[in-house]
Amino acid sequence: MSGLLPELDDPALDRLRQTLSRLARRPPQVLLLEGGDEAQRLAMARFWAAACNCQQPSAPCLVCPVCTQIAAGEYLDCLTYDGRISKRDDEESPGLTRSLNMDNIRTLKALLRDAPHGQGRRTVILMGFGPRAEVPNALLKVLEEPSPHTVFCLLAAQREQLLPTLVSRSFCLTLPWPVRHQSSAALAQWEDALAAFLQNGQGLLDKTSARNALDAPLSGEILVACQRSLARVLAGQSNGPLDAALASLDTPALAQCGRWLEEAHDMLRHSVTPARVLEALAARLFVLRRGQGLH
Ligand SMILES: [Zn+2]
Repeated sequence: MSGLLPELDDPALDRLRQTLSRLARRPPQVLLLEGGDEAQRLAMARFWAAACNCQQPSAPCLVCPVCTQIAAGEYLDCLTYDGRISKRDDEESPGLTRSLNMDNIRTLKALLRDAPHGQGRRTVILMGFGPRAEVPNALLKVLEEPSPHTVFCLLAAQREQLLPTLVSRSFCLTLPWPVRHQSSAALAQWEDALAAFLQNGQGLLDKTSARNALDAPLSGEILVACQRSLARVLAGQSNGPLDAALASLDTPALAQCGRWLEEAHDMLRHSVTPARVLEALAARLFVLRRGQGLH
């Protein structure tokens, strides 16, 4: 593995990379990547774009100029849209990743009529799906139209966060969940403390405020445990106290939980104190349950 996409430098991802390299010979129009963490999903989407555009015999070679530009997010035929970027931020300081808003979808639609700049397939990466229904609906129309020169790649922590109509049009692949480093007993204690806090608003803060109780890797594991719990609840397979605390929420609230978990991961990556990240998340979930009359 070259150093171009260091997030993928993990033997657990080898098989998925091989699958994508093979799939690129006859790529599905819409690929959905779920699982892993956010950085891995984006890196895997860029690997996919490289597999669909690199002209070397061993594509993706991860060495040539095409692969290098794709990995840096700078390749003209690889476009990235993120629903979490506001329209205003996008207009005031447009970055390499653009806002997923109606105007940009319209522009994209017009662009899709033109052939790509290079010899590969234009790859459109879409992530950060928000609660606004208009965007997914407009997007659905774009994804439904035949686009022989273009492939789309949707990114989500869990496929359940997307409209079922989007998922049913997609070829879905799942990145493995990050390796569990913490002892499962320690993690289970945190899950139970969080579940109890969601029920009665007590106990968790004593645990987070204990000196050196939480470092970033443990907090990351706790967030992943919450994501697993959410995935079980969404699949109707609740099991254990944390699942039970989440299972009483309605579907929009569960989607909101998914977005907050992503944000919490983001905060950890930006070195926010792990205890504060967990406390903020727990407080939000507690208030969300209260808003649904669950206390
Ligand atoms: Zn290449």
